Amino acid sequence: MKTSADVVIVGGGCMGASVAYHLARRGVTNVVLLEREKMLGTGSTGRNAGGVRHQFSNEANIRLSIESIALLERFGDEIGHPIDFHQDGYLFLLSSEASVETFRQNVALQRRLGVDVEWLDAAAAARLAPGLDASGVRAATFCQRDGIADPNGVTMGFVKAAQAAGVSVERDVEVTAIHLDAGRVASVETTRGTIATRTVVNAAGPWAEQVGRLAGVDVPVTPVRRHIFIAACDAPAPAAAPGSPPAPAAFPESHVMVIDFETTFYFHREGAGLLFGMGDPREKSGFDMTVQWDFLPQVIDVAVTRLPALANASISHAWAGLYEMSPDANPIIGRAATVEGFYLINGFSGHGFQHSPAAGRILADLIAGRDPHFDLAPFAIDRFNTRAVSGERYVV
Ligand SMILES: Cc1cc2nc3c(=O)[nH]c(=O)nc-3n(C[C@H](O)[C@H](O)[C@H](O)COP(=O)(O)OP(=O)(O)OC[C@H]3O[C@@H](n4cnc5c(N)ncnc54)[C@H](O)[C@@H]3O)c2cc1C
Repeated sequence: MKTSADVVIVGGGCMGASVAYHLARRGVTNVVLLEREKMLGTGSTGRNAGGVRHQFSNEANIRLSIESIALLERFGDEIGHPIDFHQDGYLFLLSSEASVETFRQNVALQRRLGVDVEWLDAAAAARLAPGLDASGVRAATFCQRDGIADPNGVTMGFVKAAQAAGVSVERDVEVTAIHLDAGRVASVETTRGTIATRTVVNAAGPWAEQVGRLAGVDVPVTPVRRHIFIAACDAPAPAAAPGSPPAPAAFPESHVMVIDFETTFYFHREGAGLLFGMGDPREKSGFDMTVQWDFLPQVIDVAVTRLPALANASISHAWAGLYEMSPDANPIIGRAATVEGFYLINGFSGHGFQHSPAAGRILADLIAGRDPHFDLAPFAIDRFNTRAVSGERYVV
């Protein structure tokens, strides 16, 4: 392993990979990316639902999405790695007047920024997702360019391109200390030796607070467990009444992502199966990633009201991962205020995979001394102490 580098990146998930790639494109290649696991992308990145959307409530997040989705659309041409990107849209179902009003303001904002978002009624929503029961849905929003992509493909695409340009990637090595000299980063201590460097990137996902502490920087990120379940799609559709038209398909064939905004139940097609999940408001913060099987019946109680065929489906497997929550559900991107040379790309609050292309580009510009052409005030680490923040409302 190198003993000195211009930049050391801590964490080999989608964020660390994107920063490495974008640094390399800017000619900064004396870079070491360190991952403590034996493989890259086994943290939150390897446990996420792959969702990619323009539909956010916060302007800065919509801007991250516009840039990120444009890169995902040209990923094959620019980076030459498959990412299995299906732009079959995100469909938000709204069942309360309060949600419809919130979305009215946010759709106006999204459209002002150039995003093509449609309003649909319940019948049109049901047509987009065969098998969906849209009872009680007052309105829905749909953006065709939203979709589903492969987190491993994106991460490995970034990493391989960075490696090809000269970036070093080390697995199975943990960062255990970060040493400072006169208030700036001087070196990184690892389980395989010390690397002298003046620049460290904290790309440690749900472990960002711990890595921040190594440099004496308070990074307000807390881990919160989220579950994902996979159902086999072989369950029959509910039988049609005699004399009525044939029953619709039990599950959508497309990869449309459907989100029941009120309950946070969501689903999309995943290969031959159906991926679904739902937030648990009682979940406390912590690093436990074991699957709580007794949560499944609560999800199913809600799920069958929207997707009745799930009542007869078998669950083929499940996993849990960690959302990396910031206090206002917006990320923290930029320089640490108190330690020179320490950079943050943290706290994406459950929607970081889709923002990794733009977030990595922005941070690489900052490190390389370029203007990122992005107003980072909503993502600054000092925002929590200095002003009232208006974060992200669409946390699914
Ligand atoms: C169930 C679930 C569903 C999700 N669905 C979506 C979705 O649909 N769309 C979306 O955009 N986002 C989604 N997310 C969120 C998304 O996965 C995260 O925002 C994103 O993966 C964060 O990437 P990261 O690189 O910052 O973190 P990670 O992927 O967790 O990477 C951090 C890495 O740092 C390493 N590390 C930590 N400490 C050290 C150390 N001291 N030394 C060396 N290495 C260290 C860890 O091992 C880890 O590999 C979901 C998350 C979960 C859990």
